[in-house]
Amino acid sequence: MTSSVTEPLTDVSALVRAHELALEFIESLPERPVGARASAADLHEALAGDLPEIGLDPVAVVEELVRAAGPGLIGSAGPRYFGFVIGGSLPAARAVDWLTTTWDQNAALFATSPAASVVESVTAGWILDLLGLPAGASVGFVTGAQMANFTCLAAARHAVLERVGWDVQLDGLNGAPPVNVVISQEAHATILSALRMLGFGSGRALRVPTDAQGRMRGEALRQVLASVDGPTIVCAQAGNVDTGAFDELAEIAELTRARGAWLHVDGAFGLWAAASPDRRDLVAGGELADSWATDAHKWLNVPYDSGIAIVADPAAHQAAMTVRANYLLRGRGSERDNHDWVPESSRRARGFALYAALQSLGRRGLAELIERDCRLAMRMAGLLSREPTVTILNDVVLNQVLVRIEPVSGGDGDTLTRAVAAGVQAEGTCWLSGTRWHDQDAMRISVSNWSTTETDIERAAAAILTVVRRELAATAST
Ligand SMILES: *Cc1c(COP(=O)(O)O)cnc(C)c1O
Repeated sequence: MTSSVTEPLTDVSALVRAHELALEFIESLPERPVGARASAADLHEALAGDLPEIGLDPVAVVEELVRAAGPGLIGSAGPRYFGFVIGGSLPAARAVDWLTTTWDQNAALFATSPAASVVESVTAGWILDLLGLPAGASVGFVTGAQMANFTCLAAARHAVLERVGWDVQLDGLNGAPPVNVVISQEAHATILSALRMLGFGSGRALRVPTDAQGRMRGEALRQVLASVDGPTIVCAQAGNVDTGAFDELAEIAELTRARGAWLHVDGAFGLWAAASPDRRDLVAGGELADSWATDAHKWLNVPYDSGIAIVADPAAHQAAMTVRANYLLRGRGSERDNHDWVPESSRRARGFALYAALQSLGRRGLAELIERDCRLAMRMAGLLSREPTVTILNDVVLNQVLVRIEPVSGGDGDTLTRAVAAGVQAEGTCWLSGTRWHDQDAMRISVSNWSTTETDIERAAAAILTVVRRELAATAST
């Protein structure tokens, strides 16, 4: 055993071994049990131990980690993982993500990586075009929709206070004119944490009631807006995590404009509906907003981590984010400094994998990916609802299906639904998660992977229905 620091720079044996083991993992994805096969205790036992005094050989480090961590890996990159809203990795994006690690560029400045800078600038243009957003908007590449929501709302905070003569960058929020933040009852939890991080407080937000699908309707927002005045930020949603439903964006945009408020749209996965001619209507009016948050690691199937913050007014975006110091060589003219648009300074060049994903899909491939997953979600809902005990709780307008199991002869649907979710997870053909929807337990199925086929949906539906029948029999016999 030798210490890794004695290896020459060009010794690639660990990388070669990692490549072999990565291929084995990818090849295992279609058939491996989707859930983890180790408990926390198993994993602690396999991975814990004293940090070695003398470093291990890099090849041994790779092999040992794969052996010890393997049973704790989830097959979420595979075709029958339907939990949360988690996408896989497109082959081109995954390959380029490996290169990104190897290149090890610091994507902060043009000076630290001209290639990363220009790739982000080109990718930004493609994204605005695909999503039907204003060509002059600015784009930041962040870790996920959480940070995209944060970034956009930081720009919003800057802009609405600037309009009333307050410089929040210089003077902070102490003594500032109060800002009304209006969100829906169904706002994603990351909107609330963004509000906490920005000093707005999550408890002060005014909450607009939503309808049976979880949508904020224009009329309900109108009533809430009637009771506030002064600087105002409204957060709408494109794609509810449970139902996939969209807020009434056209009406909401009109109301917020008339009111001079800032409109932010959280479209972590739903915003991509704009890239499909068949689903575009769902986001109509959303292009009139002031900022948009979305993810690339969900429906675009870029490896983690990859989110996108988009702001219609680049000046507000940059004012809220940029870092200045004498030693930082600022890019000039068309030289983009990526750190102007994100909360981070030094960071991974995550634009490369995004560029690769979009280039490998093309405009048509992206539209097909979105449309196919929506169609497969409908197919799943159709197959499951053949069983009389199964209820589909939502209108399947996108890629999300909400499922509840009700015992035929009375009994507790919550317990049964939870038992079925746990049974499906343990069985391993597919994976889905439980949720609470309007005071009822439900199972949530999200079809977000490029590699999922009709056969995967049929296999998964059959596995779920087998568990449903088994649990029903168990309930009947007790
Ligand atoms: C997933 C999701 C988020 C958070 O995204 P992360 O990528 O986990 O940061 C925010 N909003 C909505 C609607 C989401 O679905």
